Amino acid sequence: AIEIADLHKSFGDNQVLQGIDLTVEPGQVVCVIGPSGSGKSTLLRCVNLLETPTRGKVFVEGVEVTDPDVDLDAVRRRIGMVFQQFNLFPHMTALQNVMIAQQRVLKRSKKEAEIVARENLEKVGVGDKCDTHPGQLSGGQQQRVAIARALAMNPDLMLFDEPTSALDPELVGDVLAVMRKLAEEGMTMLVVTHEMGFAREVADRVVFMDGGVVVEDGPASQVIGDPAQERTKTFLRRVL
Ligand code: ATP
Ligand code: MG
Repeated sequence: AIEIADLHKSFGDNQVLQGIDLTVEPGQVVCVIGPSGSGKSTLLRCVNLLETPTRGKVFVEGVEVTDPDVDLDAVRRRIGMVFQQFNLFPHMTALQNVMIAQQRVLKRSKKEAEIVARENLEKVGVGDKCDTHPGQLSGGQQQRVAIARALAMNPDLMLFDEPTSALDPELVGDVLAVMRKLAEEGMTMLVVTHEMGFAREVADRVVFMDGGVVVEDGPASQVIGDPAQERTKTFLRRVL
């Protein structure tokens, strides 16, 4: 589970997050939508402490990660993150990309890391690309390798920040299908996305953010299909 309470984040005098309360229950998928600059990425980055919150608390699997004494590496190890940019190592094969953190961070043997890497590459549908370098893969294949890399670390939960926004339209579906499968397997997921169809079909809840606050939080069908707030309606009219 992820529990976020009264989360604030400022950069200088730019108050980007202004008191976010948000919970993702175990096995739930929560999609975050909202205009550019509303603080969606900053919110995700505060969960795995890529940014240090200015105020408020974040709990991951019951552990307060905003506690100053927390073991940062231990926290990050339990959270898988997938970004818009895939951030694969260009000089390594897909297999090596999925093995490296397992060996370095989890201290798995080369043999074990390879077994786990092959399993996860297979799972995301690129099992035949083990020996291929990222430059020879499509964007959708690269993103699926990035998802396999995160899954190979056995995370308790996954954060996705617009994982399909950099992809050509015809490649978006393959990545969304992998995410849908993860959701069906019960992975806890917090997903920033512009894919309203995915949010509607897969998310347990949709959260609409604007100006650093949660404007609306409810079942996907309600927030997208029948929003209560005027700001949500205006946003959806522009994106749907
Ligand atoms: P988008 O949909 O375009 O990705 P977003 O909702 O993810 O937008 P954020 O990236 O969280 O928005 O940015 C929110 C605000 O925080 C912006 O005004 C941005 O300039 C500011 N910001 C984000 N990261 C930093 C940083 N490291 N230093 C200073 N300002 C930042
Ligand atoms: Mg963003």
